[in-house]
Order: sequence, then structure tokens, then C-alpha cells
Amino acid sequence: MNLGLLLLAFTPSWTSVSMLLGYVTYLVIVGSILPGKIVPGVTLSDGTRLHYRCNGLLLLVLLIFLLGIGGWMDLLSPTAIADRGLELLSATLVFSVLVTNLLYMVGCRSRDQSSSFKPHTTGNLIEDWWFGIQLNPQFMGLDLKFYFVRAGMLGWLLINLSVLVKCIQESNLSQSMILYQLFCVIYIMDYFVHEEYMTSTWDIIAERLGFMLVFGDIVWIPFTFSIQGWWLLRNKVELTTAAIIANCLVFFMGYLIFRGANKQKHVFKKNPKALIWGRPPKVIGGKLLASGYWGIARHSNYLGDLLVALSFSLPCGISSPVPYFYPTYLFILLIWRERRDETRCAQKYKDIWAEYKKTVPWRILPYVY
Ligand code: NDP
Repeated sequence: MNLGLLLLAFTPSWTSVSMLLGYVTYLVIVGSILPGKIVPGVTLSDGTRLHYRCNGLLLLVLLIFLLGIGGWMDLLSPTAIADRGLELLSATLVFSVLVTNLLYMVGCRSRDQSSSFKPHTTGNLIEDWWFGIQLNPQFMGLDLKFYFVRAGMLGWLLINLSVLVKCIQESNLSQSMILYQLFCVIYIMDYFVHEEYMTSTWDIIAERLGFMLVFGDIVWIPFTFSIQGWWLLRNKVELTTAAIIANCLVFFMGYLIFRGANKQKHVFKKNPKALIWGRPPKVIGGKLLASGYWGIARHSNYLGDLLVALSFSLPCGISSPVPYFYPTYLFILLIWRERRDETRCAQKYKDIWAEYKKTVPWRILPYVY
């Protein structure tokens, strides 16, 4: 493809802009109307708590149903996303910059001194724009951090489904594509089934909302996590039965650790006496869980996520590094994140954290790191 054609492919058409705006509007309006379990977030430094309406699964099912009806009635094409991938990518990128600018302006003007809306400015415009000004900006009663991560995860599913339909239409469906799609569907559905667990994660409790999160959620997640699907659309891979079995094992092992660890922490935060693997939990300083997955490594949830990420790429074989973009990125991100979380926890928990480190010396992978 020459430069002119590439630029043309990246230029958002009115159709792609409408698709994006329709999508974000659907998530705002339907997200604030549909019922869902109301989950209290962590207690903020001023003693307040946000409440999150966890209706993502319902939103997802309804959207797939509506899109299915639209496709069946020939009102829209199921390959619309796969046909306009680059345009949608650039439209979403521009949207994320505009939203960040708006958040920056609103944040700077805020006079609210509550933990959620208090402006945090360093005086460095780039840093403030990148990391954000406010902890929990809201729109129409929705917490925007919670909203954007939902938009990204659901967007990833929609891209994958559209790529799958295109693959079937081109009579190109392979075992690799089926494996990749299957693993992603399980992982994304799991996210929505356990959406409430998101409320105790680092992004929600500790990060402010700036370009880093907005871009990460609505551009990075859907468009880079789906690279394997796009790659399989144009490349053929022959997998042996042994490779398929090994690939499934990596996924299910990773999934078990990822889900198990995040669930144990979430349950522990709600009820510090809840049994872990059938036994009373080992607790340090009354606050830190040191049994179950959290007694094996201080971030075994990251290990699980890394194995899952690897399993998304293994169906693509080893002929190209391109499909390994996601696990490579995640590896770098989680190593960096673990360091930042470690600093935060050391400051917050002081001696208790030091004792936890002594009890559980491994960061992510026992006996290695
Ligand atoms: P965690 O869910 O691990 O949350 C870290 C926080 O948990 C700490 O700040 C601390 O917060 C609390 N905590 C840490 N250790 C303990 C303990 N032993 N007992 C009790 N509480 C503890 O971090 P993340 O939000 O980074 O990750 C959540 C999931 O999201 C992970 O599985 C990760 O892999 C995944 N993820 C995926 C990404 C992707 O791009 N695919 C990107 C980032 C994350 P507190 O102050 O509340 O105690």
C-alpha cells in the first residue's frame, strides 16, 4: 500500500465517525438507564465512596442482540468494523484527544475539594494532561473511568466478532482463528460477569483520568488486543493437535490464576474472614491477605494475565512477531505497574507491607521474580 492509500485508509469517513458516536452514546444513555447491581467503591481519603452500577453484561447482550437484528434486516453490515478498522482507529484516537482536552479544562476549573473532583495540578501541562487532573470525573451520573474501560472491552469484542464474520465470509476460518476468538470471548465475558471486581483495581482506585487512561481504554485495548485476529485474517497457520492442547492448557491455567487471584482479593476486601481455598485466611496487620494466590506471589494475578495474553498469540504460530505485540506490551506494562503499586503500597501500609514482603518474597513469578 503506498503512502497516499494508507493516509486515505486512516482518514475517518462520516460513517466511521457516526459508528463511533453511536457507540459511545449508546453506552452513556443505555448505561445510565439499564438496571444493574450497585457496588460501593473503595473509601476515598475524604471518607466518601462512589457507587458503580454494574450493568455491563446487560449492555453487551442488548447491543449484540440489536446489532444482530440490524444485520438480519440488512440495515447494517456485520463486517462494517472489519472493513473500516483503520478509519475507526484514527476516529477513536482523535476522540480520545478531544475528550482528554475537555477533562483537562473541566478539571482545572473545578472548585470542588472532594477526593473525586479536587484538581491535582503539577504545573506541568503535559504531565497533567497525560495523567489527568481529577480522580473520578463523571458524566450523566456515570463514573468516566469505569465507563471508558467498559467501552474498550466491549469494543474489543465487537472488533473480534466483525473480523470473525469477515473471515467466515471469505471462507478463511481456521483452527487458529477459532482458538483466538474462543479465548477472547471467555476473557471478555468474564470481565463483564465480574465487572464489579474492577471497582477495586489500581486504575479505578488510584489513577486520575487523563490521556493515558482514556487512550489506553478506548484506543489501545480494542485496537491492539485484536491484532492477532487481524493478522489471522490475512495469514494461514497449521496447528498440530499437541499445539492446540498446549495452547488450551496455557489459557486455562492463566485464566484460573488471573480470575482466582483477583476474586480472592475482592472477596477478602469485603469480608476479611472469608475462607481462602477452604481455610481461614492468613492476614498481615489485619489488612493484607497472605494466603491463596496472594501467599504465592505479591501479584500472581499479573502472572495469570500474562499467561492468558500469551495464549491469545500462540494460535498464530511463531512465523511472525506481530501477533506477539499484546503479550510483549503487557509484560512491560505489568512489570512497570507492579513497581508503581509496590511503591504505593509501601507508603500506604508501611511496616505491614514490609512484613508482607518478608512473608511473600516473590513479586510475580515464584522462585524467579
Ligand atoms: P491489583 O488488582 O493487583 O490491585 C493492587 C492493589 O490491591 C494494591 O494497590 C492494594 O490496594 C491491594 N493489594 C495489594 N496486595 C494486597 C494484598 N496482599 N491483600 C490485600 N490487598 C492487596 O492491580 P491492578 O489493578 O493493576 O490489576 C488488576 C487486574 O487487571 C490484574 O489481573 C491485571 O493483570 C489486570 N490488568 C490488565 C491490563 C491489560 O492491559 N490487560 C492492564 C492492567 C491490569 P489497597 O490500597 O486497596 O489495599
